[in-house]
Amino acid sequence: MLTQAPKGTKDIYGAEMQLWQQMEATMRRLCKNFGIEEIRTPIFEHTELFLRSVGDTTDIVQKEMYTFEDKGNRSITLRPESTAGVARAYIEHGMHNNAQPTKLFYIAPTFRYENTQAGRQRQFHQFGVELFGSYAPALDAEAISVAYELIRSFGLKNITLKLNSLGGPQCRAKYNQTLRSFIGDHLQELCPECRARFEKNPLRVLDCKEEKCQRVLQNAPLVLDCLDEECRGHFETLQQLLTEMGIPFEIDPKIVRGLDYYTRTVFEFVTDTIGAQGTVCGGGRYDKLMEECGGPATGAVGFGLGMERLMLTLEAQNGKAAYAPTRQIYIGSIGQDGLRKAMALTYQLRRQGIVAECDTVGRSVKAQMKYANKIGARYSMILGDTEVAEAAADVKNMEDGTVTHVSFEQLTALFTHTQS
Ligand code: ATP
Ligand code: MG
Repeated sequence: MLTQAPKGTKDIYGAEMQLWQQMEATMRRLCKNFGIEEIRTPIFEHTELFLRSVGDTTDIVQKEMYTFEDKGNRSITLRPESTAGVARAYIEHGMHNNAQPTKLFYIAPTFRYENTQAGRQRQFHQFGVELFGSYAPALDAEAISVAYELIRSFGLKNITLKLNSLGGPQCRAKYNQTLRSFIGDHLQELCPECRARFEKNPLRVLDCKEEKCQRVLQNAPLVLDCLDEECRGHFETLQQLLTEMGIPFEIDPKIVRGLDYYTRTVFEFVTDTIGAQGTVCGGGRYDKLMEECGGPATGAVGFGLGMERLMLTLEAQNGKAAYAPTRQIYIGSIGQDGLRKAMALTYQLRRQGIVAECDTVGRSVKAQMKYANKIGARYSMILGDTEVAEAAADVKNMEDGTVTHVSFEQLTALFTHTQS
């Protein structure tokens, strides 16, 4: 227990951490280009928020939430997704009073009590984007283009954008009726859980992962056939926009998403390279959520991207990333004077943005050089009494073995043309 992280959680370090940092840097850079600003909301919220927004018949709320009572007897839940918290913040801070749209992104640890397997953890991370303040299909296209561009910029192949529309409340009511009568005829062939779902919310049945249920559902009526004219127009315009933007997609009338707040557009980016947990990114429009949470009616669209699944896809395609050493110079030392100077020089170089390292362990000179090699230092030098007295030392290029005599004053210049 003491030496093992809780089930479904993971430490991130070393080579993997470097990849995370690259991934996050790309996300931040991209969002900047799209005019999307970062928001950080609390890791926990009032449980009520998720019951209202995610929906109390969804798997997330029924089975997956980390809910507890705090010492003040409030019911608190670790966020199982971030849209609800961001929407709450939008209302709380009156962001609807700003010029619209409001465009926000987050990179957030997220918690779900799930059966753990590859690509399914109990603490995982989502990168997500939420765009508020418009009902126009252009906002849907903009959200999708962020996710697409992110996936494209990582050079990921074998990822397909699947698109569907769930219609508005009226279309949904009509569809629920059609679906209920279809499922009612096949109730005995479905898993017990689906039979319960059927009672409360037939749409949730479509989301079941059991094979026998999926077989029955192959012939289920499609929500696309129940769209009214306005919703169909919205969906068609979105498709035209994506086509014009050069973003390829497939219509998949089976996509319904596992959260209740979606209206009209829903989409997923799916890959077949990481096994069963193939949905890397999921999102859609949620025009009713704000009102549901007590805010003003606000058109909104967003997505959440599973960062671990993105990482798995990257690894499936490119192999595991190797650790890339980052040190530029190692300043070794002999004796107390050498060490004093080495520490001072290292500190000075670091302040100038050069990644320098020195001996803080008390190693022998030989061991210091071995260490310099290990950390991938591009240059190394050793300071003894002579070097300190001369204020200069031999600097060895660790790649080609060449040696240059450099004065301490000139050390920085060594990096101005070699710094990358
Ligand atoms: P799934 O159908 O795989 O359970 P979901 O519909 O529950 O996914 P969303 O709530 O839409 O997923 O979350 C968005 C994304 O977050 C998913 O597409 C996936 O990449 C990622 N994700 C969801 N749950 C987990 C988890 N337990 N571990 C790792 N990533 C996850
Ligand atoms: Mg899930």
